[in-house]
Amino acid sequence: MALIVQKYGGTSVGSPERIRNVARRVARWKSQGHDLVVVVSAMSGETNRLIALAREVQGEPDPRELDQMVSTGEQVTIGLLAMALKDIGVDARSYTGGQVRILTDNAYTKARILSIDEHNMRADLSAGRVVVVAGFQGIDAAGNVTTLGRGGSDTTGVALAAALRADECQIYTDVDGVYTTDPRIVPNARRLRTVTFEEMLEMASLGSKVLQIRSVEFAGKYRVKLRVLSSFQDEGEGTLITFEEDEHMEQAIISGIAFNRDEAKITVQGVPDRPGIAYQILGPVADANIDVDMIVQNAGVHGLTDFSFTVPRGDFARASRLIEEVRQHIGAREVIGDERIAKVSIVGVGMRSHCGIASKAFRALSEEGINIQMISTSEIKISVVLDEKYLELAVRVLHDAFELDREPV
Ligand code: ADP
Ligand code: ASP
Ligand code: MG
Repeated sequence: MALIVQKYGGTSVGSPERIRNVARRVARWKSQGHDLVVVVSAMSGETNRLIALAREVQGEPDPRELDQMVSTGEQVTIGLLAMALKDIGVDARSYTGGQVRILTDNAYTKARILSIDEHNMRADLSAGRVVVVAGFQGIDAAGNVTTLGRGGSDTTGVALAAALRADECQIYTDVDGVYTTDPRIVPNARRLRTVTFEEMLEMASLGSKVLQIRSVEFAGKYRVKLRVLSSFQDEGEGTLITFEEDEHMEQAIISGIAFNRDEAKITVQGVPDRPGIAYQILGPVADANIDVDMIVQNAGVHGLTDFSFTVPRGDFARASRLIEEVRQHIGAREVIGDERIAKVSIVGVGMRSHCGIASKAFRALSEEGINIQMISTSEIKISVVLDEKYLELAVRVLHDAFELDREPV
């Protein structure tokens, strides 16, 4: 008998019939003698609908009130799933994040989980009930409802598994595992049987939304056994996130390709090339709590240089306003913004022991005439920024170049 946390995403609970399907799957696990805590997202499209509704009323919605209403999507599905379970004779009880007491900080719309009270959940499990918990939400110390950022139900699932020391956390979604890249973009993408924690962390942070990055961080910190599976198939082992690179596992050099359309590029041209300039440009951006991702500064010519960096697209307008002020202050020539960029990244722990990976990637892109605007690398990833219109082509070309559709030998 094991304690299992299952998380079902929006598509998996997207209709009454699908919710009944989830209930049947939960009942099956329960009948095998396991204890179950089930986390659900809002029905697919619902969170987007609620955010759009808020924006109709207030252009830039007040963050506290936004969390208050956006969190209701999950409150609907927990009630429905508990009903569906009772309907087939499985005792269940639903809880909002606040009712469990998933305590978070007060950073509305991107709150972090601080602690989880196990008491209610343990009491229900002992009484033989299935515990159903709303994903994506918590409560701060003052009792305000908070949300954990888009895709945050994954994090609720893994955090509950960590708090309860569950034997496994199963993330059920609309694909049957983690693939070499998004199978919607590359139809011959291949499911990975295992992926290392480090690779998954990179893929999530670089844009593969199959798992929210914080859920992967939690899994790493608390060593949660984490598996991604399909809620539409009865069989299948999905993808297991592993912590050790054991030699029997797949030994690919590249495990996957991630991409992200959520960034925008700002270039300051004709910047006086003197010490402290990077700080003068990026200091105000950091002070405004805007994350800067990639940065490129060219070598100066005649005492002037160009300085480019990327920010989340949602912060682009704000960052551009700040940089225009900086430009005047430092006497730079011009600020150019570009919202139509995308970032493509190849990820693999095998890169550590292989050289020539970057040049192979750059050659593949150049053969298609795709211009690379920025590059950044780490031990296990190479990222390039390019024109958004080449994104899908670039992902396919790289997937082919590294033969990711084939099982590594
Ligand atoms: P859920 O609503 O279940 O949380 P998401 O839409 O958040 O589901 O995540 C699943 C989606 O992630 C898939 O439908 C797929 O299009 C996308 N995805 C992106 N990258 C990958 C990848 N490497 N492997 C599998 N799915 C991926
Ligand atoms: N419903 C939330 C969202 O759409 C949380 C989640 O689905 O994980 O972002
Ligand atoms: Mg998701």
